[in-house]
Amino acid sequence: MARVPEETIERIRNTADIYDVVAQYVDLKKRGRNFFGLCPFHSEKTPSFSVAPDKQIYHCFGCGAGGNVFSFIVEHEKISFIEAVKQLGHKYGIQVDYQSGPANKIFSSLYELHDIAVKLYHNILFSEKGKAALDYLHNRGFNDDTIKTYHIGFAPDSWDTLSNTIKTSSFKDNVYEKTGLFIKTDRGWRDRFRSRIMFPIYHQSGKAIAFGGRIFNNNDPAKYLNSPETPLYRKSEVFYGLHKTRDSIRKFSTAVLVEGYTDFLQLVQLGIPNVVALSGTALGNNHASQIRKFASKVYLAYDGDDAGINATLRAGYVLFQAGVEPLVIPMPNDKDPDDWVREEGVNAFQEAMGSSMPLLLFHLHKRDVKNLSGTDRSRIVKEILKEISLINDGIIRDDLLKSLSQELQLDEVEVYRLFNSQTGMKKINVDSDKYSAKTQPFTNAMQKAQLEIIRAIAFNFDEVYPSMKNIIDFQIFDEPILQKIGLFLIKDNKPKDLSAIIDQFENMDEKRLVSEILFDDVSSDDPQLIISECIATIKGKLIKDQIKQARIKIRELESSGEDAKEIIIQVIELQNTLHQLTENIETE
Ligand SMILES: [Zn+2]
Repeated sequence: MARVPEETIERIRNTADIYDVVAQYVDLKKRGRNFFGLCPFHSEKTPSFSVAPDKQIYHCFGCGAGGNVFSFIVEHEKISFIEAVKQLGHKYGIQVDYQSGPANKIFSSLYELHDIAVKLYHNILFSEKGKAALDYLHNRGFNDDTIKTYHIGFAPDSWDTLSNTIKTSSFKDNVYEKTGLFIKTDRGWRDRFRSRIMFPIYHQSGKAIAFGGRIFNNNDPAKYLNSPETPLYRKSEVFYGLHKTRDSIRKFSTAVLVEGYTDFLQLVQLGIPNVVALSGTALGNNHASQIRKFASKVYLAYDGDDAGINATLRAGYVLFQAGVEPLVIPMPNDKDPDDWVREEGVNAFQEAMGSSMPLLLFHLHKRDVKNLSGTDRSRIVKEILKEISLINDGIIRDDLLKSLSQELQLDEVEVYRLFNSQTGMKKINVDSDKYSAKTQPFTNAMQKAQLEIIRAIAFNFDEVYPSMKNIIDFQIFDEPILQKIGLFLIKDNKPKDLSAIIDQFENMDEKRLVSEILFDDVSSDDPQLIISECIATIKGKLIKDQIKQARIKIRELESSGEDAKEIIIQVIELQNTLHQLTENIETE
């Protein structure tokens, strides 16, 4: 991948001016310290798009768009970050050492080879050699329109169908090796895919990057053979079919996720437009954060067998952890969506979508938790609590814990106690991949306190930080995005360029949220007081939680006739600390 040195990026960020950049596209009028104009990212009649030249960021109060010079160009021109850096470098006369050359040449060769292979296999399917395979596809219910749209092909039972075709072309050895389309033998490069129905796998841009090959008239034990990982094909990032269905998924903000290529094709052919399939691997965090860009809800339509159920649960929790709501379409036993819709029709599938199950219910139901007793039941509950603990979003976590206690008719306090004791103190996870911008509104007292601390430091660094650095502690933060901003703000004990914070975040939703956080600068006369009050709020809340838990423990000990004295003393100490905390604030 092309890389630009961090120094260059910083130089361009420092040189470029957000007003200057935005004003090329938007008519801006000054109002107070900021400029306002009609938002280029959503349609509106009164200006809610604002540019803050002092912070070098923009934010739209209407649609939430926001960011710095780079993200503006990325969002407006629909180009990559690196391309935006290059464009701004050009505008401001800063040389960008954009390392293209050999690496890019290999990429274009790899794309070219896939292009050749897609056309070759597709033409063979419609030739005499592919007749049996084409008949098979027709019998499976696929029409020519679908077959052509998705360029399904056929690789005959031969070692050199593809290798002979490209022999005249001039590709270097390392290109053959890196395509994943060949294997090296004593007699040179030979075709990897033989006697297989070929499903080309596309990048979102519409370029073919790999194949999935389904066995046809051959004894090979592998029903499906996928391209290996190559520079073009990273299984953990790729969805099958997304290049065609992305717009529908975005439109409905909902996706139907299936495991197989034929499940995908069957559903799309029957008129369900927002389907997407995995490609040769289980759903991982990268997939989930990609899907989050287009959908807030995902229907899981996996196979109805045990393996499918387990994969559904795994995928469901990965989605939750990325802030996407998973719903499960219950599949009849031992059926996959492909068979099912062919037998029962698309209406059955749509009805099942309508009566889909929340993941947690599905989990409890499939494990038959209600009828389990003792250790088995407790094991499953612990398994679920562990999954819940990996979810960063407090609202989702709370919802799940509440439903869990309702479904199992357990006392809510007891479920929380189990959860806390199992997971220890709240886990702080700065993994930005897992963060969901949409679901973090920072509305409760804890969140607001963290937000206020961040703002007070960001806007008054020199005034507050040197004198308060001993009491400012981001480890007590439980909002990962705010914690990450905080740690960046105080890095090296130096004030930071606010627009640079935005580049610390990869994801566009996060960039938007960070801009929103930094844009709203309600200046205060006494940022130091705000910081100490907010720290007290957070610490107070943590102590109150500890007291609550200790009280539950005391009740338990007392009801079983044990001595609770030690814990009672602890509670008294905690209460004293809490008292001092509030007093300190009042006297300051
Ligand atoms: Zn807007």
